[in-house]
Amino acid sequence: MAYQHRYLDGSPLALPAGKVVCIGRNYLDHIRELNNAPPDTPILFIKPATSLSALDDPIRLPAGRGGCHHEVELAVLVGQELRDADAATARQGVAGYGVALDLTLRDLQTELKRKGYPWETAKAFDGSCPLSPFLKPRDLPDPQAVEITLRIGGEFRQQGHTGQMMIGIFDLMAHISTHFTLLPGDVVLTGTPAGVGPLRSGDQLLLGLAGREFAARVG
Ligand code: ZN
Repeated sequence: MAYQHRYLDGSPLALPAGKVVCIGRNYLDHIRELNNAPPDTPILFIKPATSLSALDDPIRLPAGRGGCHHEVELAVLVGQELRDADAATARQGVAGYGVALDLTLRDLQTELKRKGYPWETAKAFDGSCPLSPFLKPRDLPDPQAVEITLRIGGEFRQQGHTGQMMIGIFDLMAHISTHFTLLPGDVVLTGTPAGVGPLRSGDQLLLGLAGREFAARVG
């Protein structure tokens, strides 16, 4: 089914599915686990609208391209056009918060990084951004102080706290808006905490945001 943004409470949400702007390294513990250096400026990349998939649709792992890793991340739905915005304006432009997976073909990404090539084929493939329904901003008044978790088969694999981000949510959105105009319906992914690892066919996932959990399944 074609992906459409929706609110968790079922209220109308008439924003088109746009691009997804992501930050490569925003939690120190995850930077250390991949033996990366902390960046001096944020590493940004984009997934197209065709990467979006609702969490209740089965997650499809691309065949024959090596391991596909989960990266659980706080997702921010953009409700207003943001260009060269400051952090306060970015905050006012938020239409909702959700939880997403930034699916990553890790073997392919490692190979591309080694050769100095761009990462798109490892990060931006169809269905590479499974995404939950959104909470309204008033239902998550302090998004910089919430837990973000991933369980697989009941076992915790990723447990982070948005307070651990090196660049906060609204500063990140402001920075992004100096490079790419954010449009209503775009999504910002805010980076993943430690614990990334491969998904397997049949895995049952629970993505957690501020104590709420959303189920997903690898097809
Ligand atoms: Zn990520």
